[in-house]
Amino acid sequence: MATKKKSIEHWEEKGKKLELLYWISSELYVSEHKKHETFDDFLFQASDRPEIIFRDIFQLFHDMVNYYVPKGKDEYMDKETIGFVSYDTSQLFVKDCDNPFFADRPFANRLMNLISKFKKGIQNNQIYLFEGPPGSGKSTFLNNLLMKFEEYTKTPEGEIYETLWKIDVEKFDLIRRKVKGLPPIDYEHQNTNNRVIEIPCPNHDHPILLIHRAYRQRFLDELIDDKKFKQKLFHDKEYNWVLKDTPCSICNSIYNTLLEELGVPVEVFKMVHARRVDFNRQFGRGISVFNPGDEGSTKPQSNYTLQNYINEVFQNENIKYIYSTLADTNNGVYALMDIKEHNVDRLMDLHGIISDGIHKVDLVEERIKSLFVGLVNPEDKRYYENVKSFQDRIINISIPYILDYNTEVVIYINKFGEDITEKFLPRVLTNFAKIIISTRLNRESEAIRKWIIHPEKYSKYVDRNFLLLKMDVYTGKIPEWLSEEDVKRFDRQTRKDIVGASETEGLKGISGRQSLSIFSNFYSRHANSDKLITMDMIKDFFEENAGEPEFSEIPDGFINSLESSYGFNALQEVKESIYYYNEKQISKDIMNYLYALNFEKGTTERCVYTGDNIDITEEFYKNFESIYLGTTTTDTIRHNFRNDLRSEYVTKTLAQEIRVLNKNIDETSQYKNLFERYTRNLKENALAPYTDNDNFRRALMDFGTDNFENNEERIKRDVKQLITNLHCKFNYTAEGAKQVSLYVIDKKLVRKY
Ligand SMILES: [Zn+2]
Repeated sequence: MATKKKSIEHWEEKGKKLELLYWISSELYVSEHKKHETFDDFLFQASDRPEIIFRDIFQLFHDMVNYYVPKGKDEYMDKETIGFVSYDTSQLFVKDCDNPFFADRPFANRLMNLISKFKKGIQNNQIYLFEGPPGSGKSTFLNNLLMKFEEYTKTPEGEIYETLWKIDVEKFDLIRRKVKGLPPIDYEHQNTNNRVIEIPCPNHDHPILLIHRAYRQRFLDELIDDKKFKQKLFHDKEYNWVLKDTPCSICNSIYNTLLEELGVPVEVFKMVHARRVDFNRQFGRGISVFNPGDEGSTKPQSNYTLQNYINEVFQNENIKYIYSTLADTNNGVYALMDIKEHNVDRLMDLHGIISDGIHKVDLVEERIKSLFVGLVNPEDKRYYENVKSFQDRIINISIPYILDYNTEVVIYINKFGEDITEKFLPRVLTNFAKIIISTRLNRESEAIRKWIIHPEKYSKYVDRNFLLLKMDVYTGKIPEWLSEEDVKRFDRQTRKDIVGASETEGLKGISGRQSLSIFSNFYSRHANSDKLITMDMIKDFFEENAGEPEFSEIPDGFINSLESSYGFNALQEVKESIYYYNEKQISKDIMNYLYALNFEKGTTERCVYTGDNIDITEEFYKNFESIYLGTTTTDTIRHNFRNDLRSEYVTKTLAQEIRVLNKNIDETSQYKNLFERYTRNLKENALAPYTDNDNFRRALMDFGTDNFENNEERIKRDVKQLITNLHCKFNYTAEGAKQVSLYVIDKKLVRKY
């Protein structure tokens, strides 16, 4: 019995496996089944979806990148924007990639700007070399980019067609005999086993090229209804190729031979098919990637079997099925991984083709239009730098080490797991990344020197080279500590100059690989501690290891400045969290004051905004003004302050914003400005009562323990509020909030800033 049971199970199991095979077979059949269509059907598609059908390699590549990378976000939609925006490149470089590549903001912008040029039809006759130091991840970048390109061409959005000849031998012979007045052959009694021979265009010609150039525009005008598209097709440079390109020599000679034999073009077009281009890097179809060590022949390629069929069917030897290896990537991607060894020769060989777009294969001319890309280490530029005629053919795109600290952190997270963020006090992990990035930046920045006229006013929280400022700019951030005046001076030119200079950075300093190993070294020391990782721990780590060669690039004093900047921000957070204001009361104060400005002292008026009765006295004014000016200021300053506000209230707030624009008083800019300054002043002084207060410190220490209840009511309330706000506003855990508050108090930061 046991064996029988086993045998049933065995068969059931086998049945399941068989089902599985059927399933995978049908899946594969659908996905691998190449799409062929007749020229007729193809033209129908072309008129139906011209934007998809009429694409060359550059347009296709452009669409691919934009398919994976959504439109960028501009956080600062101010009028000085230079389009230095935040792109999410994770679909392109991270998702489903064996090795993810992380593009920081400067590089992502550079890449997207380059890609947008692809769409403009000005990209021919160039090779794009991505230049970066070892360890910048450039080969991962190119591998992922090409992998996604291949994937894209298998999606409905990524279809692109090439010419495929299908010669129905019987039909061909039949018509041909008729045209020539010869008797037909009875095929029924012949043993022909290749009745249809397929001749693919080895150059991947777009099928539309078979419509003779002289008639093509008229033909397309009739074919396509979409007027808007036709406008672009006939006038935009990107579509120039549709009107101007010609078929390859093979397609040309097949066409001409067929036409001669069959008499009329319509019979020829019946033998033209459009086939979906099947890009395949592994087999070098449409995408070829050459490594420096790859040997390869540049001998002309041919296909003997096919050539024999061709000769037999056409009964002559006019059609030479011969092409170069470059034909494989015509209208495709030709990539050189590193300009070294054999790739140096390859690059030199490309010179002529890139310049002229044409070369000879035996006696025949072959036109080549490919997306030529490559990777290069800075020291390998010497191979081509001195070739003058190559200069304007090579477009260098810098792909340096990461310069955006947010991206650097993402790389740590990718490597060590999401948990690491919970082990650090807020902003501390980012500071680790900033130290690494400081080694990659140029110390001097002319643009920043021109921009910040009074650098000394920031000396308490920025390094003297303003690298911390530059780093913020690279992440797309305008730091809050910048004075209003300097924010105004951050104009388009300044932004262009700073961002532009980033192309020369990240070629030296701590590499991506080194950075990961330094981080791992640091993290392993603290990962198991209950305490959160603090700024002090980072400082200690770098000080202890200051002798390490890779740390020699950290600018002198940078870590101290970073610590100061950290302290300054921590203080702001604590102040912001401990102070609280009664919005209603502040609002009333401002409205009453503004209203009272219109009346003589010594009167009592009812405020139209609040309904309060106000005794208008010098004392009343003074109380309000001291919030802005302090209690010890002179009468002259106070009167000037008062007169300025009165005049603004009368001429702008009341005359324009309230009467003309119909705003409420609390929507006017004068009100908003006063409100903002009122709360800022409250905040500035919020921590003052607790600076040297042992009771407060003790209550903080007690927080979360039973002892906490024994503290004074008011202090308990303030500590609770502090912890809660630090949590809600700045993402601290209760433990972290306690730690950062003690940091601010123990380092006496209130006095420092
Ligand atoms: Zn062709």
